[in-house]
Amino acid sequence: MDQSNSIQTALPRVCDWNAPFFAAGLFDQLKLQRCDSCSRLIYYPRIACPYCMCPDMTWETLSGDGSVYSYSIVWRPQDRSFMDQVPIVLAVISLVEGVQIVSTVLGETRQNVTIGDPVRAVFHKLNNSIALPKFQLVKS
Ligand SMILES: [Zn+2]
Repeated sequence: MDQSNSIQTALPRVCDWNAPFFAAGLFDQLKLQRCDSCSRLIYYPRIACPYCMCPDMTWETLSGDGSVYSYSIVWRPQDRSFMDQVPIVLAVISLVEGVQIVSTVLGETRQNVTIGDPVRAVFHKLNNSIALPKFQLVKS
């Protein structure tokens, strides 16, 4: 384990079946899998549909628009690489396409977030194969 003072950002493990999710953000797109059998959108990426176990799914580009379903403000993240992001507004976002996604809300006014606030996806590039979807409050 690296004991130096440099803090490495925790990265997701990229596999063949989840790579399109992480790569889509490099092109400012939010993509999720849609089951070819039951047609449900699936979050998070998986190797089979959690509803019908069908292994055949198609990647679909979503609008990136949604609203805050619930949230919690994190002051003490479990991984110290996130300390520079505190306070972290960890949120469940209901996308307009009808699926929920867990992410964070960004921006100077993020602590003023309330349930139902409209949000839009923005993408946080971590390296050449990973850009995570985050959400920004949409002013109404
Ligand atoms: Zn299915």
